[in-house]
Amino acid sequence: MFSPSKIKKDFPIFTDSNLVYLDNAATSQKPQAVLDAVDSLYKEANANVHRALYSLGSEATERFENSRKKVANFINANSKEIIFTSGTTESINLLARSLGNTLKSGDEILISEMEHHSNIVPWQLAAKRTGATLRYLSIKKTGELDLSEPEKYFTKKTKIVSLTHMSNVLGTINPIKGLAKLAHNVGAIFIVDGAQGASHLPVNMKELDCDFYAFSGHKMLGPTGIGVLWGKTKLLEEMEPFMGGGEMINTVSMESSTWNDIPYKFEAGTPNFAQAVGLGAAIDYLENIGMEAIELHEKTLLNYALNKMNHMDGIRIHGSAKDRGGVISFNVDGIHPHDLAQFLNEDNIAIRVGHHCAQPLLKTLGESATARLSFYIYNDENDVDKFCDSLKTIMGYF
Ligand code: PLP
Repeated sequence: MFSPSKIKKDFPIFTDSNLVYLDNAATSQKPQAVLDAVDSLYKEANANVHRALYSLGSEATERFENSRKKVANFINANSKEIIFTSGTTESINLLARSLGNTLKSGDEILISEMEHHSNIVPWQLAAKRTGATLRYLSIKKTGELDLSEPEKYFTKKTKIVSLTHMSNVLGTINPIKGLAKLAHNVGAIFIVDGAQGASHLPVNMKELDCDFYAFSGHKMLGPTGIGVLWGKTKLLEEMEPFMGGGEMINTVSMESSTWNDIPYKFEAGTPNFAQAVGLGAAIDYLENIGMEAIELHEKTLLNYALNKMNHMDGIRIHGSAKDRGGVISFNVDGIHPHDLAQFLNEDNIAIRVGHHCAQPLLKTLGESATARLSFYIYNDENDVDKFCDSLKTIMGYF
Protein backbone atom coordinates (compact mmCIF):
# COMPACT_ATOMS: atom_id res chain seq x y z
CA MET A 1 0.00 0.00 0.00
CA PHE A 2 1.25 3.50 -0.79
CA SER A 3 1.88 6.21 1.76
CA PRO A 4 -0.41 9.26 1.56
CA SER A 5 1.99 11.31 3.69
CA LYS A 6 4.80 10.64 1.18
CA ILE A 7 2.44 11.42 -1.70
CA LYS A 8 1.53 14.77 -0.10
CA LYS A 9 5.14 15.85 -0.58
CA ASP A 10 4.64 15.73 -4.35
CA PHE A 11 1.88 18.35 -4.11
CA PRO A 12 3.11 21.95 -3.71
CA ILE A 13 -0.23 23.04 -2.19
CA PHE A 14 0.50 20.93 0.91
CA THR A 15 4.02 22.31 1.42
CA ASP A 16 4.35 24.09 4.75
CA SER A 17 0.62 23.94 5.22
CA ASN A 18 -1.71 22.13 7.60
CA LEU A 19 -4.43 22.09 4.95
CA VAL A 20 -6.86 19.19 5.28
CA TYR A 21 -8.37 18.98 1.81
CA LEU A 22 -11.53 16.89 1.73
CA ASP A 23 -13.24 18.29 -1.36
CA ASN A 24 -11.80 15.98 -3.98
CA ALA A 25 -15.12 15.18 -5.64
CA ALA A 26 -15.17 18.86 -6.67
CA THR A 27 -11.58 18.97 -7.88
CA SER A 28 -8.25 17.36 -7.01
CA GLN A 29 -4.92 18.96 -6.13
CA LYS A 30 -2.04 18.79 -8.64
CA PRO A 31 1.32 17.08 -8.19
CA GLN A 32 4.52 18.85 -9.29
CA ALA A 33 4.87 16.39 -12.20
CA VAL A 34 1.64 17.71 -13.74
CA LEU A 35 2.64 21.35 -13.23
CA ASP A 36 6.05 20.57 -14.79
CA ALA A 37 4.51 18.89 -17.84
CA VAL A 38 2.32 21.93 -18.57
CA ASP A 39 5.16 24.35 -17.82
CA SER A 40 7.58 22.46 -20.06
CA LEU A 41 5.08 22.38 -22.94
CA TYR A 42 4.75 26.16 -22.84
CA LYS A 43 8.47 26.74 -22.31
CA GLU A 44 9.88 24.22 -24.78
CA ALA A 45 7.26 23.14 -27.27
CA ASN A 46 4.58 25.76 -27.65
CA ALA A 47 3.10 25.80 -31.16
CA ASN A 48 -0.36 24.97 -32.41
CA VAL A 49 -0.94 21.24 -32.85
CA HIS A 50 -1.70 19.44 -36.15
CA ARG A 51 -0.89 22.54 -38.23
CA ALA A 52 2.71 23.65 -38.03
CA LEU A 53 5.29 22.16 -40.41
CA TYR A 54 8.20 23.18 -38.20
CA SER A 55 9.92 21.26 -35.41
CA LEU A 56 8.24 23.08 -32.55
CA GLY A 57 4.83 22.24 -33.99
CA SER A 58 5.81 18.58 -34.42
CA GLU A 59 7.00 18.44 -30.81
CA ALA A 60 3.75 19.98 -29.50
CA THR A 61 1.69 17.59 -31.64
CA GLU A 62 3.73 14.62 -30.48
CA ARG A 63 3.25 15.49 -26.80
CA PHE A 64 -0.47 16.08 -27.36
CA GLU A 65 -1.01 12.83 -29.26
CA ASN A 66 1.14 10.95 -26.77
CA SER A 67 -1.31 12.03 -24.07
CA ARG A 68 -4.17 10.67 -26.13
CA LYS A 69 -2.37 7.31 -26.19
CA LYS A 70 -1.89 7.45 -22.42
CA VAL A 71 -5.61 8.12 -21.91
CA ALA A 72 -6.47 5.25 -24.27
CA ASN A 73 -4.19 2.83 -22.39
CA PHE A 74 -5.53 4.04 -19.05
CA ILE A 75 -9.08 2.99 -19.95
CA ASN A 76 -8.11 0.14 -22.30
CA ALA A 77 -9.43 1.73 -25.47
CA ASN A 78 -8.28 2.67 -28.94
CA SER A 79 -6.64 6.14 -29.35
CA LYS A 80 -8.95 7.21 -32.15
CA GLU A 81 -11.89 6.74 -29.78
CA ILE A 82 -10.50 9.34 -27.34
CA ILE A 83 -12.01 12.78 -27.90
CA PHE A 84 -10.53 15.60 -25.88
CA THR A 85 -13.18 17.93 -24.48
CA SER A 86 -13.08 20.54 -21.73
CA GLY A 87 -14.54 18.08 -19.21
CA THR A 88 -17.40 15.75 -18.38
CA THR A 89 -19.92 18.54 -18.87
CA GLU A 90 -18.83 19.22 -22.44
CA SER A 91 -18.59 15.48 -23.17
CA ILE A 92 -22.20 14.91 -22.13
CA ASN A 93 -23.40 18.03 -23.95
CA LEU A 94 -21.67 16.75 -27.08
CA LEU A 95 -23.66 13.53 -26.81
CA ALA A 96 -26.92 15.25 -25.91
CA ARG A 97 -26.55 17.42 -29.00
CA SER A 98 -25.19 14.93 -31.45
CA LEU A 99 -27.04 11.77 -30.39
CA GLY A 100 -29.88 13.80 -28.93
CA ASN A 101 -30.75 15.19 -32.36
CA THR A 102 -31.58 11.68 -33.59
CA LEU A 103 -34.42 11.43 -31.04
CA LYS A 104 -38.06 11.98 -31.84
CA SER A 105 -41.35 12.31 -30.03
CA GLY A 106 -42.19 9.05 -28.23
CA ASP A 107 -38.54 8.14 -27.65
CA GLU A 108 -37.29 7.98 -24.08
CA ILE A 109 -34.06 9.04 -22.41
CA LEU A 110 -33.40 7.28 -19.11
CA ILE A 111 -31.27 8.84 -16.37
CA SER A 112 -31.52 8.54 -12.58
CA GLU A 113 -32.35 10.55 -9.48
CA MET A 114 -28.71 10.51 -8.41
CA GLU A 115 -27.30 12.35 -11.43
CA HIS A 116 -25.17 15.48 -11.40
CA HIS A 117 -26.79 18.47 -13.16
CA SER A 118 -24.41 17.93 -16.07
CA ASN A 119 -26.09 14.59 -16.72
CA ILE A 120 -29.59 16.03 -16.32
CA VAL A 121 -29.79 19.46 -17.94
CA PRO A 122 -28.28 18.49 -21.35
CA TRP A 123 -30.93 15.73 -21.59
CA GLN A 124 -33.71 18.11 -20.55
CA LEU A 125 -32.60 20.38 -23.40
CA ALA A 126 -32.45 17.44 -25.84
CA ALA A 127 -35.94 16.31 -24.78
CA LYS A 128 -37.28 19.82 -25.24
CA ARG A 129 -35.72 20.12 -28.72
CA THR A 130 -36.92 16.76 -29.99
CA GLY A 131 -40.13 15.96 -28.09
CA ALA A 132 -38.53 12.91 -26.45
CA THR A 133 -39.41 12.06 -22.83
CA LEU A 134 -36.91 12.17 -19.99
CA ARG A 135 -37.39 9.46 -17.35
CA TYR A 136 -35.68 8.91 -14.01
CA LEU A 137 -34.70 5.64 -12.35
CA SER A 138 -35.47 6.10 -8.65
CA ILE A 139 -33.15 5.28 -5.79
CA LYS A 140 -33.65 3.20 -2.66
CA LYS A 141 -33.06 4.36 0.95
CA THR A 142 -29.59 2.85 0.71
CA GLY A 143 -28.71 5.28 -2.06
CA GLU A 144 -28.57 2.50 -4.65
CA LEU A 145 -30.52 2.48 -7.91
CA ASP A 146 -33.88 0.75 -7.56
CA LEU A 147 -33.62 -1.97 -10.20
CA SER A 148 -36.47 -4.10 -8.81
CA GLU A 149 -38.66 -3.57 -11.90
CA PRO A 150 -36.26 -2.85 -14.76
CA GLU A 151 -38.89 -3.65 -17.40
CA LYS A 152 -40.78 -0.50 -16.33
CA TYR A 153 -37.82 1.71 -17.25
CA PHE A 154 -35.90 -0.18 -19.92
CA THR A 155 -38.42 -0.52 -22.74
CA LYS A 156 -38.54 -0.49 -26.52
CA LYS A 157 -39.03 3.28 -26.28
CA THR A 158 -35.71 3.74 -24.42
CA LYS A 159 -33.15 5.09 -26.88
CA ILE A 160 -30.50 6.55 -24.55
CA VAL A 161 -29.55 5.54 -21.01
CA SER A 162 -27.10 7.87 -19.25
CA LEU A 163 -26.02 7.06 -15.68
CA THR A 164 -23.25 7.98 -13.31
CA HIS A 165 -20.51 5.49 -12.49
CA MET A 166 -20.21 6.82 -8.95
CA SER A 167 -22.48 9.33 -7.20
CA ASN A 168 -20.70 12.55 -6.24
CA VAL A 169 -23.09 12.90 -3.29
CA LEU A 170 -23.60 9.40 -1.90
CA GLY A 171 -20.49 7.63 -3.19
CA THR A 172 -22.70 4.83 -4.57
CA ILE A 173 -20.89 2.86 -7.27
CA ASN A 174 -23.42 1.71 -9.85
CA PRO A 175 -23.31 -1.80 -11.38
CA ILE A 176 -22.25 -0.60 -14.82
CA LYS A 177 -21.90 -3.99 -16.53
CA GLY A 178 -25.43 -5.05 -15.51
CA LEU A 179 -26.85 -1.69 -16.51
CA ALA A 180 -25.14 -1.98 -19.91
CA LYS A 181 -26.91 -5.31 -20.39
CA LEU A 182 -30.30 -3.82 -19.46
CA ALA A 183 -29.77 -0.92 -21.89
CA HIS A 184 -28.47 -3.07 -24.74
CA ASN A 185 -31.26 -5.65 -24.33
CA VAL A 186 -33.74 -2.97 -25.42
CA GLY A 187 -31.42 -1.58 -28.10
CA ALA A 188 -30.57 1.63 -26.20
CA ILE A 189 -27.23 3.43 -26.22
CA PHE A 190 -25.56 3.37 -22.82
CA ILE A 191 -23.57 6.40 -21.63
CA VAL A 192 -21.60 6.52 -18.38
CA ASP A 193 -20.82 9.74 -16.55
CA GLY A 194 -17.38 8.77 -15.29
CA ALA A 195 -16.47 12.07 -13.58
CA GLN A 196 -16.16 10.21 -10.25
CA GLY A 197 -15.30 6.89 -11.90
CA ALA A 198 -12.09 7.21 -13.92
CA SER A 199 -10.58 9.35 -11.17
CA HIS A 200 -11.09 6.83 -8.36
CA LEU A 201 -11.65 3.34 -9.83
CA PRO A 202 -9.91 1.12 -12.36
CA VAL A 203 -11.94 1.47 -15.57
CA ASN A 204 -11.68 -0.77 -18.57
CA MET A 205 -13.80 0.02 -21.63
CA LYS A 206 -13.62 -3.56 -22.89
CA GLU A 207 -15.04 -4.87 -19.62
CA LEU A 208 -17.65 -2.22 -18.77
CA ASP A 209 -19.34 -2.60 -22.15
CA CYS A 210 -20.82 0.89 -22.19
CA ASP A 211 -21.02 2.83 -25.47
CA PHE A 212 -19.67 6.16 -24.20
CA TYR A 213 -17.71 7.14 -21.10
CA ALA A 214 -17.12 10.77 -20.05
CA PHE A 215 -14.63 12.14 -17.51
CA SER A 216 -12.73 15.24 -16.35
CA GLY A 217 -8.97 15.74 -16.04
CA HIS A 218 -9.13 18.13 -13.09
CA LYS A 219 -10.72 15.51 -10.83
CA MET A 220 -7.83 13.10 -11.41
CA LEU A 221 -4.78 15.30 -10.66
CA GLY A 222 -4.82 16.90 -14.12
CA PRO A 223 -5.31 20.53 -15.15
CA THR A 224 -8.67 22.22 -15.52
CA GLY A 225 -10.10 22.66 -19.02
CA ILE A 226 -9.38 19.14 -20.23
CA GLY A 227 -11.63 16.12 -20.25
CA VAL A 228 -12.42 13.06 -22.28
CA LEU A 229 -15.25 11.50 -24.18
CA TRP A 230 -14.59 7.89 -25.10
CA GLY A 231 -16.98 6.28 -27.58
CA LYS A 232 -17.19 3.11 -29.66
CA THR A 233 -15.70 3.69 -33.14
CA LYS A 234 -18.84 2.73 -35.04
CA LEU A 235 -21.05 5.10 -33.07
CA LEU A 236 -18.59 7.98 -33.25
CA GLU A 237 -18.28 7.52 -37.01
CA GLU A 238 -22.05 7.60 -37.41
CA MET A 239 -22.52 10.71 -35.26
CA GLU A 240 -22.73 14.26 -36.58
CA PRO A 241 -20.18 16.74 -35.19
CA PHE A 242 -21.07 18.83 -32.17
CA MET A 243 -19.16 22.00 -33.03
CA GLY A 244 -17.88 23.33 -36.35
CA GLY A 245 -14.55 25.02 -36.97
CA GLY A 246 -10.90 24.38 -37.78
CA GLU A 247 -9.42 20.86 -37.79
CA MET A 248 -12.75 19.02 -37.64
CA ILE A 249 -13.20 19.18 -41.42
CA ASN A 250 -11.89 17.32 -44.41
CA THR A 251 -13.00 19.82 -47.07
CA VAL A 252 -14.88 23.11 -46.92
CA SER A 253 -16.55 24.78 -49.87
CA MET A 254 -18.74 27.85 -49.78
CA GLU A 255 -21.80 25.61 -49.74
CA SER A 256 -20.89 22.73 -47.49
CA SER A 257 -18.20 20.75 -45.67
CA THR A 258 -17.10 17.17 -45.13
CA TRP A 259 -15.78 15.87 -41.84
CA ASN A 260 -12.36 14.79 -40.66
CA ASP A 261 -11.88 11.27 -39.26
CA ILE A 262 -12.53 10.54 -35.58
CA PRO A 263 -11.48 11.77 -33.08
CA TYR A 264 -10.72 15.07 -34.89
CA LYS A 265 -14.27 15.35 -36.21
CA PHE A 266 -15.25 16.24 -32.65
CA GLU A 267 -12.31 18.52 -31.81
CA ALA A 268 -13.13 21.81 -33.52
CA GLY A 269 -10.68 24.66 -33.03
CA THR A 270 -7.40 24.73 -31.13
CA PRO A 271 -7.63 22.02 -28.49
CA ASN A 272 -6.46 22.53 -24.90
CA PHE A 273 -3.23 20.77 -25.80
CA ALA A 274 -1.12 22.00 -22.85
CA GLN A 275 -3.83 20.75 -20.48
CA ALA A 276 -4.02 17.46 -22.38
CA VAL A 277 -0.27 17.02 -21.85
CA GLY A 278 -0.83 17.74 -18.14
CA LEU A 279 -3.52 15.05 -18.09
CA GLY A 280 -1.01 12.61 -19.59
CA ALA A 281 1.37 13.36 -16.69
CA ALA A 282 -1.50 12.91 -14.21
CA ILE A 283 -2.25 9.49 -15.69
CA ASP A 284 1.42 8.51 -15.38
CA TYR A 285 1.27 9.53 -11.72
CA LEU A 286 -1.94 7.58 -11.03
CA GLU A 287 -0.71 4.50 -12.89
CA ASN A 288 2.48 4.54 -10.92
CA ILE A 289 0.39 4.11 -7.76
CA GLY A 290 -2.17 1.82 -9.41
CA MET A 291 -5.92 2.40 -9.64
CA GLU A 292 -6.70 -0.82 -7.70
CA ALA A 293 -4.56 0.44 -4.82
CA ILE A 294 -6.25 3.86 -5.02
CA GLU A 295 -9.73 2.31 -4.87
CA LEU A 296 -8.74 0.17 -1.90
CA HIS A 297 -7.13 3.12 -0.09
CA GLU A 298 -10.24 5.28 -0.48
CA LYS A 299 -12.61 2.50 0.60
CA THR A 300 -10.47 1.84 3.68
CA LEU A 301 -10.49 5.53 4.54
CA LEU A 302 -14.24 5.65 3.93
CA ASN A 303 -14.85 2.84 6.41
CA TYR A 304 -12.53 4.43 8.96
CA ALA A 305 -14.41 7.75 8.68
CA LEU A 306 -17.86 6.11 8.69
CA ASN A 307 -16.98 4.15 11.80
CA LYS A 308 -15.89 7.30 13.63
CA MET A 309 -18.83 9.40 12.46
CA ASN A 310 -21.38 6.68 13.23
CA HIS A 311 -20.23 6.84 16.85
CA MET A 312 -21.02 10.55 17.08
CA ASP A 313 -24.56 11.58 18.14
CA GLY A 314 -26.57 13.98 15.98
CA ILE A 315 -25.01 13.07 12.63
CA ARG A 316 -27.13 11.77 9.78
CA ILE A 317 -25.13 10.08 7.03
CA HIS A 318 -26.86 9.76 3.66
CA GLY A 319 -26.74 6.45 1.81
CA SER A 320 -25.35 3.08 2.77
CA ALA A 321 -24.64 1.42 -0.57
CA LYS A 322 -22.76 -1.89 -0.46
CA ASP A 323 -20.42 -0.76 -3.21
CA ARG A 324 -19.33 2.72 -2.32
CA GLY A 325 -16.37 5.03 -2.98
CA GLY A 326 -14.74 7.65 -0.76
CA VAL A 327 -17.59 10.14 -0.44
CA ILE A 328 -19.68 10.90 2.67
CA SER A 329 -22.62 13.27 2.66
CA PHE A 330 -24.09 14.12 6.02
CA ASN A 331 -26.10 16.59 8.07
CA VAL A 332 -25.62 17.54 11.69
CA ASP A 333 -28.75 18.14 13.78
CA GLY A 334 -29.14 21.82 14.57
CA ILE A 335 -26.19 23.08 12.47
CA HIS A 336 -26.62 24.36 8.94
CA PRO A 337 -24.03 22.82 6.58
CA HIS A 338 -22.84 26.30 5.56
CA ASP A 339 -22.07 27.19 9.20
CA LEU A 340 -20.28 23.87 9.54
CA ALA A 341 -18.04 24.58 6.54
CA GLN A 342 -17.16 28.00 7.88
CA PHE A 343 -16.23 26.67 11.31
CA LEU A 344 -14.17 23.83 9.79
CA ASN A 345 -12.40 26.39 7.63
CA GLU A 346 -11.14 28.03 10.85
CA ASP A 347 -9.14 24.81 11.33
CA ASN A 348 -8.03 24.84 7.67
CA ILE A 349 -10.31 21.92 6.83
CA ALA A 350 -11.92 22.19 3.38
CA ILE A 351 -15.20 20.36 2.80
CA ARG A 352 -18.00 21.02 0.33
CA VAL A 353 -21.49 22.03 1.43
CA GLY A 354 -24.60 22.75 -0.62
CA HIS A 355 -26.58 20.81 -3.19
CA HIS A 356 -23.48 19.43 -4.97
CA CYS A 357 -25.05 20.14 -8.39
CA ALA A 358 -27.57 17.38 -7.68
CA GLN A 359 -30.76 19.18 -6.67
CA PRO A 360 -33.15 16.34 -7.65
CA LEU A 361 -31.19 13.95 -5.43
CA LEU A 362 -31.17 16.43 -2.54
CA LYS A 363 -34.95 16.68 -2.91
CA THR A 364 -35.22 12.89 -2.67
CA LEU A 365 -33.03 12.99 0.43
CA GLY A 366 -35.32 15.67 1.89
CA GLU A 367 -32.46 18.13 2.38
CA SER A 368 -31.76 21.53 0.84
CA ALA A 369 -28.04 21.17 1.54
CA THR A 370 -25.63 18.58 2.94
CA ALA A 371 -21.99 18.61 4.00
CA ARG A 372 -19.68 16.33 2.03
CA LEU A 373 -16.26 14.80 2.59
CA SER A 374 -14.50 13.24 -0.38
CA PHE A 375 -11.13 11.53 -0.33
CA TYR A 376 -8.17 11.08 -2.64
CA ILE A 377 -4.70 9.55 -2.63
CA TYR A 378 -3.11 12.16 -0.34
CA ASN A 379 -5.74 11.85 2.42
CA ASP A 380 -5.11 9.63 5.41
CA GLU A 381 -6.54 8.71 8.81
CA ASN A 382 -4.85 11.75 10.27
CA ASP A 383 -7.03 13.99 8.05
CA VAL A 384 -10.15 12.12 9.18
CA ASP A 385 -9.10 12.44 12.85
CA LYS A 386 -8.54 16.19 12.48
CA PHE A 387 -11.91 16.55 10.78
CA CYS A 388 -13.74 14.53 13.48
CA ASP A 389 -12.01 16.43 16.31
CA SER A 390 -12.94 19.76 14.75
CA LEU A 391 -16.51 18.57 14.15
CA LYS A 392 -16.86 17.51 17.81
CA THR A 393 -15.67 20.93 18.98
CA ILE A 394 -18.09 22.71 16.63
CA MET A 395 -20.99 20.52 17.77
CA GLY A 396 -20.12 21.55 21.33
CA TYR A 397 -20.75 25.24 20.46
CA PHE A 398 -24.36 24.61 19.45
N1 PLP B 1 -20.69 14.29 -13.12
C1 PLP B 1 -20.37 14.08 -11.83
C2 PLP B 1 -20.81 12.81 -11.15
C3 PLP B 1 -19.61 15.03 -11.14
O1 PLP B 1 -19.28 14.82 -9.88
C4 PLP B 1 -19.22 16.21 -11.83
C5 PLP B 1 -18.49 17.26 -11.12
O2 PLP B 1 -18.49 17.35 -9.92
C6 PLP B 1 -19.57 16.35 -13.18
C7 PLP B 1 -20.32 15.38 -13.78
C8 PLP B 1 -19.17 17.57 -13.96
O3 PLP B 1 -17.79 17.61 -14.12
P1 PLP B 1 -17.08 18.89 -14.75
O4 PLP B 1 -17.56 20.06 -13.95
O5 PLP B 1 -15.63 18.60 -14.58
O6 PLP B 1 -17.49 18.97 -16.17
